[in-house]
Amino acid sequence: MIKKLLIANRGEIALRILRACREMGIKTVAIHSTADRDLKHVRLADEAVCIGPASSLDSYLNIPAIISAAEVTDADAIHPGYGFLSENADFAERVESSGFIFVGPTAESIRVMGDKIRAKEAMVKSNVPCVPGSEGAVPDDPEECLAMAERIGYPLIIKATGGGGGRGMRTVYDASDLLESIAMTKTEAGAAFGNDVVFMEKFLQKPRHIEFQVLSDTHGNAIHLCERDCSMQRRNQKVVEEAPAPGITTEQRNTLGNTIAKACVDIGYRGAGTFEFLYEDGEFYFIEMNTRLQVEHPVTEFITGVDLVKQQLLIAAGEELKIKQEDIVPRGHAIECRINAEDPDTFAPSPGTIQSFHQPGGLGVRVDTHIYGGYKVPPYYDSMIGKLIVHGEDRDAAITRMEGALTEMVVMGIKTNIPLQLRIMADTAFRKGGAGIDYLEKKLSQT
Ligand code: ADP
Repeated sequence: MIKKLLIANRGEIALRILRACREMGIKTVAIHSTADRDLKHVRLADEAVCIGPASSLDSYLNIPAIISAAEVTDADAIHPGYGFLSENADFAERVESSGFIFVGPTAESIRVMGDKIRAKEAMVKSNVPCVPGSEGAVPDDPEECLAMAERIGYPLIIKATGGGGGRGMRTVYDASDLLESIAMTKTEAGAAFGNDVVFMEKFLQKPRHIEFQVLSDTHGNAIHLCERDCSMQRRNQKVVEEAPAPGITTEQRNTLGNTIAKACVDIGYRGAGTFEFLYEDGEFYFIEMNTRLQVEHPVTEFITGVDLVKQQLLIAAGEELKIKQEDIVPRGHAIECRINAEDPDTFAPSPGTIQSFHQPGGLGVRVDTHIYGGYKVPPYYDSMIGKLIVHGEDRDAAITRMEGALTEMVVMGIKTNIPLQLRIMADTAFRKGGAGIDYLEKKLSQT
């Protein structure tokens, strides 16, 4: 088993990982930038190492500094959390070649899944449904491109195979724009990702975002842990997530869930991962796999009772999955609201000192946050300051519980998006369930 884990992250997720370690008897090493000395997990960890200045590039993205911190503290494993280096194949490789356990998949898996064309190829091989498209890079010949686009049908989307974070894609509505759009996306992708290969696929007009959680060990066992609906998004950023997805039948869940569990075995996947799909007119279309723990993992934990971080650590230590697919029976409904330090109307970040903080509570309420009264939210990092997660016997009960919890939660001194989250909970289309990924932006633009 892992004896000492270095947590290569900050904020709420660092605290989340620390809590799992404490329960498993694993010692913890926190790393932090000079701006993050007062983070809660830094105080709670067995050891803490300052690895550089505030800028992420010099600290949380500084691979040599992180490896050195693991060496001087004699850690035996490194958990990357989410964001930062969590999907950086070079980091995973460096961690392992330096003799540490990487809590995540192999560098090769990260590379394959980080390349959208290769990822789609792997999925097609395992019979995972994908968005129809060019199946590989777009052809060099303009005539061939036009003919292929005609076959796929407009509108379509041009995507950089090395793209990420919602960048490197462009929608094309008409053949007259196709060639110019391809050329522009190629130029941008080359500059941004150092890889100008692009492909095209059908643009779905009003899909929902539905993703499946998986766990896969190094002994050939893989299970799925049901799905989450993350369609409430603004600028490709998830705002509210829930599990299970409204309206998805047990049969749909089992069919696709079993297919992706098998895909994990086919590709030799190790650890926790997420298969993201767009869902439209009753059909699922794979878009990408996230090879790490997700921000929204707690909603899955609530409905399945499985501690995903503990499972990650057990798998990383080489243990066999003890949970069987038949043990996964979703119970009730869970919703997560991301709490951001930002203006609820303009979305401008709102860093600063939190004068006081009142945390909601009660049955089925979970708050994952690193903030406390007196804590100063630094301006250097993501604006998310925590997550409020609730569980209820059904979706209506969960929404009612979330409204109560949001009302109880008070963060003084900075602006937060709590008022926006309350608006979403009260929204008719949200309450009905099943709104598309375009819904929230449209609602916001109308007010
Ligand atoms: P990234 O790696 O940049 O996150 P994704 O492939 O996951 O790229 O796509 C990001 C977002 O772009 C999706 O969540 C969805 O909103 C939109 N998108 C991607 N592919 C399509 C498509 N074929 N049709 C409609 N929207 C799409």
